[in-house]
Amino acid sequence: MKKLLVAGFAALLASSTAMAEVSQEAIGKDATITNEVVTNGMGQSLQRFSPLKQINKDTVKKLVPAWVFSMGGEKQRGNEAQPIIHDGVMYVTGSYSRAYAIDVKTGEEIWQYDARLPEGILPCCDVVNRGGALYNDKFYFGTLDARIIALDAKTGKVVWNKKIANYKAGYSYTAAPLIVKGMVITGNSGGEFGIVGEVQARDAETGEMVWTRPVIEGHMGTYKGKESTMTGTLNATWPGDLWKTGGGATWLGGSYDAETDTLVFGAGNPAPWNSWLRNAGTPTEGNKGDNLYAASRIAINPDNGEIKWHYQTTPREGWDFDGVNEVVAYTDREGNKRWATADRNGFFYVLNREDGKFINAYPFVKNISWAKGIGKDGRPIYNEDNRPGDPSKSADGKKGETIFAIPSFLGGKNWMPMAFSQNTGNFYVPSNEWGMDIWNEPVTYKKGAAYLGSGFTIKPLFEDYIGSLKAIDPDTGEVKWEYKNNAPLWAGVMTTAGGLVFTGTPEGLFKAFDDETGEELWSFQTGSGIVGQPVTWEMDGEQYIAVTSGWGGAVPLWGGEVAKKVNYLNQGGSVWVFKLSK
Ligand code: CA
Repeated sequence: MKKLLVAGFAALLASSTAMAEVSQEAIGKDATITNEVVTNGMGQSLQRFSPLKQINKDTVKKLVPAWVFSMGGEKQRGNEAQPIIHDGVMYVTGSYSRAYAIDVKTGEEIWQYDARLPEGILPCCDVVNRGGALYNDKFYFGTLDARIIALDAKTGKVVWNKKIANYKAGYSYTAAPLIVKGMVITGNSGGEFGIVGEVQARDAETGEMVWTRPVIEGHMGTYKGKESTMTGTLNATWPGDLWKTGGGATWLGGSYDAETDTLVFGAGNPAPWNSWLRNAGTPTEGNKGDNLYAASRIAINPDNGEIKWHYQTTPREGWDFDGVNEVVAYTDREGNKRWATADRNGFFYVLNREDGKFINAYPFVKNISWAKGIGKDGRPIYNEDNRPGDPSKSADGKKGETIFAIPSFLGGKNWMPMAFSQNTGNFYVPSNEWGMDIWNEPVTYKKGAAYLGSGFTIKPLFEDYIGSLKAIDPDTGEVKWEYKNNAPLWAGVMTTAGGLVFTGTPEGLFKAFDDETGEELWSFQTGSGIVGQPVTWEMDGEQYIAVTSGWGGAVPLWGGEVAKKVNYLNQGGSVWVFKLSK
């Protein structure tokens, strides 16, 4: 009897200290399970919609802080991560490749992991990290020196640490990894350094590579250590050897649609920015200068890394309109299965979920200058005079004609994720209204050096605002409501069944809007700019909401006249958690 009691007690102890592991099934159901958030995007389709409604249009005014956690560190830079919530623990990443596990009830730290970054890393757009992934007993996240690390979720100790690519050649990593079919799937960053975009799939348990898929034509993929197939057709849309340093960084990670068993990753700008070097012709001379698959969305078979379809948003791209923005799987009001994506180039696209076929596209920012619209064939109808001029045609051959292009290269929308509401059927898109002077220059590739062939200055379009959160009907492109913000918006958006839309501002305010009218119902000052991604979950019968605060990202570094306008904003580094007051 005594023995039994002791054994029972030991078993009880073991069960109370062992973490409940996160299964692939739980990851697949994340969008509907409300007591945890185990995927980036609150579900692998990236809708960022929660069925929770305790916090709603009536109660949101009672939302108050439950705790705040400082990420510490002497250098406070942009905090763009989405927290992961599981089994009483919050996992969140911070600037400079740091990761934290926090007791979600008390806000106390359980462990912290600081990656030891080498000298000479080349992050283009601040030392950010956009979050990690949880699977089985490990927490995965990528580092600025282009590595992917698996940590023991309980202790924060390294289980394995693998190199994605060579940071000395300009590669880095900032996205949240994706967990699909027992694999950790990553992209890469470095599109301003003439790298080659790639998607890699590793065995989550061991870190061993399963397949790789470069996204620029001419490069070979691999499967289980052997060459598999070539991406595209060599020199079909790239002249000479330029494909070898062709860019197309897959820097924002991807989404997974279980219904069609498809991974979708976006590819950034072709390199260099100067489009005349990649194609001296015009789009009317056929598609030879399209530079596939840069500035495209690419669907990949997760079992072998083969490309299923692609859709190029900006063929012959020449404004740094990266095609990386998130692709959200949703079902429209008539029951059609669709993808939606809001591109850097200012157009909101609807694609058919099964085959990626173009359905429709609408402008979602004002005064777009580079194209008149998107044709029925899905290709842009270019304004040729809004392409930066060819420097080889200038008097001294050193600077092409400067043009003023809208949107700016930081995009009608940048990395910050939009949300879809299953309540309203609308998308809520964090956008910015700005333009740029841009010109082209000669450039040659040098390993580890910026490879642009372009100069630029970003400028605001309107005196009173740059940021614009828009409710967009994906069936018609109609903007149902708009919230205007002085500084450019750089935070993710979340929708809830409580009829609320949450996002944050660089001015530090975390805000809730009515999903139907856009009326601002609540806001809270977090002390530094919000460029993070909110999440919500329920615990002990109460609904919680979390967001990171900490100004940074690309705007202060690349924003030209806009950066000067917002240089008063203070940096920070914290996680805020809210619930309703009793
Ligand atoms: Ca880029």
